[in-house]
Amino acid sequence: MSARPDSFFFQAVRRLSDLLVPRVCMSCNASVGIEAPELCDTCGWELSALVAHPYCTYCGEGRGPHLLREGICTSCQTGDSEIRYSKFVRVGPYSGSLRRLILQYKHEFVLDRFLGSLLAHAIQGKLDPREIDLWIPIPSHWRRRIQRGFQPTRLLANAALQHLAGRVEPWLESARYLPPLHAGMKSTDRAAMIRGAFRLARGARLRGKRIMLIDDVTTTGVTLREARRTLREGGARWVGVAVLAKVVELPALTSGVDPSAQGQ
Ligand SMILES: [Zn+2]
Ligand SMILES: [Zn+2]
Repeated sequence: MSARPDSFFFQAVRRLSDLLVPRVCMSCNASVGIEAPELCDTCGWELSALVAHPYCTYCGEGRGPHLLREGICTSCQTGDSEIRYSKFVRVGPYSGSLRRLILQYKHEFVLDRFLGSLLAHAIQGKLDPREIDLWIPIPSHWRRRIQRGFQPTRLLANAALQHLAGRVEPWLESARYLPPLHAGMKSTDRAAMIRGAFRLARGARLRGKRIMLIDDVTTTGVTLREARRTLREGGARWVGVAVLAKVVELPALTSGVDPSAQGQ
C-alpha cells in the first residue's frame, strides 16, 4: 500500500510542477508550498492507496486479493460475470482524490498529462502495449463536447500514449444523442437505450486488430460494451478497455457521483 519517494507515482506527481498552475492541491485546493508537488500530502497518499486496490483484469471488479487468482476474480473464472473484456485496466476506484482529479479534469484540461501518466502506468502493469494495434477513445457526446470545448478522452489517450508504444485513432464516433443512463435502471433497459449510440469513422480499418478502448470513468460498463460491440462488428479481433476509474460502490452513485460528468 505504501509508495516509495522514487516510485513512478511520486515522480508523476512531481512532473506536475512543470505546469503553470496556482500553488494549491489540484485535488482538494489546499495550499501547498512553493517547492511542493501539486498534490498535497493527504491527496497524494490517498491516491497511492487507491492505485494499489486490487481488481479483476477481465471485468474490473475489486473483490479483494483472496478472491483473485492470477488477477482474475471468481466470477470470471467460472464464467458468471455479466461483463468480461479481453483485458480491463483501471487506475483506481472512483473515489477520494482520484474522483476529485477526474471531476477537475472535465473542467480544466491541464490535468491530462498527469492523469495520462497514471493511466499509462496502470496499463504497463497489466499488458505489453506493443501487442495493441490501436488505442481508441470513447467519444464524448457532441453536446457535452461543445460545452466543454475539448475532447477529454482523446486528450487523455494522447497523454497516455506519450509513455507507451502505439497510436491513437478517433475511429469511434457518437451516432446520436445519448440519453442519461442511471445505475438504478435495469441492465436490459440501459443496453437497449445505448444500442447504436456509436458508429465507426469513415475509413476506419479494424479487421483483425487488437484494440484498447480508453475512457475516463465507467459505472455500469454499458457504454464500454456497446463500444466493444461496434468495434467487433467492424472486424476487431480483440477489445480491451483502459479507464481512469471504475465506480465500485453502489452507495457512491447516489451520494458522491455527478451523473452528468461521468461515463456509464
Ligand atoms: Zn489535496
Ligand atoms: Zn472478473
